[in-house]
Amino acid sequence: MPDVDVLVVGAGPAGAVAAAHAKRAAPELDVVLLERDRAVGAPVRCAEGVGDAGLREFAEPDGAPWVARKISRVIFVAPDDSEVKVAERDVGWILDRTRFDAHLAALAVAAGAELLVGTEASGMTRTPDGRWGVAVRGLRGESSYRAKVVIGADGVEAMVGRWAGLDTRVPARDMESCAQYVVQGIDFDPDAIYLQFGDAVAPGGYAWVFPKGVGIANVGLGLVALKSDGRNARQYLDAWVGRRYPGGARTGYTVGGVIVHTTVQQTYADGVLVAGDAAHMINPLSGGGIVNAMKAGRLAGCTAAAAIRAGDTTARRLATYHHAWMALLGQDHLKYYRIKQALETVDDAFFNALARTVNAIPQERRTLGRIFTHALVKHPQLIPVAARFFI
Ligand SMILES: Cc1cc2nc3c(=O)[nH]c(=O)nc-3n(C[C@H](O)[C@H](O)[C@H](O)COP(=O)(O)OP(=O)(O)OC[C@H]3O[C@@H](n4cnc5c(N)ncnc54)[C@H](O)[C@@H]3O)c2cc1C
Repeated sequence: MPDVDVLVVGAGPAGAVAAAHAKRAAPELDVVLLERDRAVGAPVRCAEGVGDAGLREFAEPDGAPWVARKISRVIFVAPDDSEVKVAERDVGWILDRTRFDAHLAALAVAAGAELLVGTEASGMTRTPDGRWGVAVRGLRGESSYRAKVVIGADGVEAMVGRWAGLDTRVPARDMESCAQYVVQGIDFDPDAIYLQFGDAVAPGGYAWVFPKGVGIANVGLGLVALKSDGRNARQYLDAWVGRRYPGGARTGYTVGGVIVHTTVQQTYADGVLVAGDAAHMINPLSGGGIVNAMKAGRLAGCTAAAAIRAGDTTARRLATYHHAWMALLGQDHLKYYRIKQALETVDDAFFNALARTVNAIPQERRTLGRIFTHALVKHPQLIPVAARFFI
């Protein structure tokens, strides 16, 4: 059983950043990063959109080969198809995640971590000396590692947290089913992302068009199955794409789940930290989780390294990770979650009316803040929620 200091399970954004930061914080530690897929970053189960500021904390996007498109506008589409353009500068980027995730993993390796692809953690138990014995199977057969700290960065279907006894259950109403095509040969503004709401389009979620280039985009939607009319996400997507882009070539298809809940109650145990989707650290309002995963990975890697150096990897010590995450974004997610709940009470007529009101504002003055203000005037029941959000 080879000994390692930090074993990171999952080489998505959370795991790759965790491994890099653990190694940078304490270069003398052995850090191993496991990825069950045969290639980091593939298959892509993501619309690949990220905000500019969050991304820049981890990588420089200008001219980077892992960027597909720069985005400078957001276009909201009401259920009745009326569009509201919101002009912002430097809104964000559409990544090429196959390359981006590989880039992050390469940074971890450059920092000195060992990366093993095609290698899956299949279970773990506490060893008598207070470490974790982690069983792995992969290209080299079955083996196991003994680790001082295991970082579970194993995504939406995470097991590490459960193996460590953490409660990672998700209520069905907070689980979105997503389906997405890559669609080519279609006409849209390639500098904008489009978001459409509506019960007939994506009940409990929204549909998106995220440009990867001129005439080519990730076109998908996420919905809450409990709210659907019996159709699954792909059936809703087929109807939407067929209506909006009947001539488009569907050249790629993916499905996936997004947890639109709040951070798990406890993200740590003796010798264990969980980060990213594995800890439900997705923004529950937008469903975005890439930058959050990287921020959590950074915290997890640094916390693990400091704990090992201090010779104390107990839950008590590792709890600092949870507190730091909650202060950084976890508390905000609680507020976004309340807004999400409040939005569940509004109907398609509300969004249609809101689009008409907002379109009466000159485009250059149409900020997200003003749109939200108009939403509040139309729907005063959102005010207590908003107050909590802005305070
Ligand atoms: C359809 C869809 C669209 C999305 N669009 C966006 C978007 O536009 N913007 C955004 O910010 N977020 C988006 N998300 C969410 C985003 O993809 C995730 O929040 C993000 O990938 C989380 O990163 P992570 O590192 O926590 O997990 P992941 O990226 O899921 O990485 C986890 C890794 O762990 C590996 N793994 C799992 N189990 C094991 C194991 N036992 N052993 C070894 N390896 C294991 C997996 O193979 C995977 O590579 C979308 C999600 C979906 C499903």
